[in-house]
Amino acid sequence: MERRILAANWKMNPQSAEEAVELARELDRLLAPLPLTKLLFPPFVFLPLLEVRNLTIGAQNVFWEEKGAYTGEVSPPMLKSVGAEWVLVGHSERRNILGERDEDLKRKAEAALKNGLKVVFCVGEKLKDREAGRHFEVIRKQLEYVPKREGVVIAYEPVWAIGTGKNATPEQIGEMHAFIKEIFNTKVLYGGSVKGHNAKELASTEGVDGFLVGGASLKPSEFYKIGEALAE
Ligand code: PEP
Repeated sequence: MERRILAANWKMNPQSAEEAVELARELDRLLAPLPLTKLLFPPFVFLPLLEVRNLTIGAQNVFWEEKGAYTGEVSPPMLKSVGAEWVLVGHSERRNILGERDEDLKRKAEAALKNGLKVVFCVGEKLKDREAGRHFEVIRKQLEYVPKREGVVIAYEPVWAIGTGKNATPEQIGEMHAFIKEIFNTKVLYGGSVKGHNAKELASTEGVDGFLVGGASLKPSEFYKIGEALAE
């Protein structure tokens, strides 16, 4: 694995298989020369369709059981069988829109690891927690549910910075990444409105081992710019 990680979270995009195949092909071609670990998290349905050589594929979610009567869920062995090597666990959209609880996330991460999948485990505080000065406490609590094992990296994604165009400052990121690494010494990615124009400053922040990128990962030239900043 390269030292730094660039991860694309497509969320529920793009809208068709044709577009997904084309976008993945373009990202694969553009990012090829960058000396980074490059991860792509598309929606489940596109996983078996994407033909990429320079990107490693992962899923945006996983269930904790391996098979059985769990309508609508997707198991770790199923993901492996279509080429996924990583899973995202605990993205704030799953915590806050789909109601996933810390206990659920722990089970998901453990099931993924047991089946040989690597995990990007997302943590992040809400704006009200940050404003009340509770951000370290919130992150400490979320980290209690993270398996502290090889194969797990953390993505620090302040909820108020995701999809909002607002970034955490380098100071806020630096101190939180240091705090996280004191609890679990692993790679820590930053996520939250990373764009072409701010990637350089964020990439040079102490303790940033990579980025988890949402919106900008759907725009190949902008995503490349972010990768370039990370690879410098
Ligand atoms: C994300 O989805 O993890 C994310 C950080 O989104 P965005 O880059 O759009 O803020």
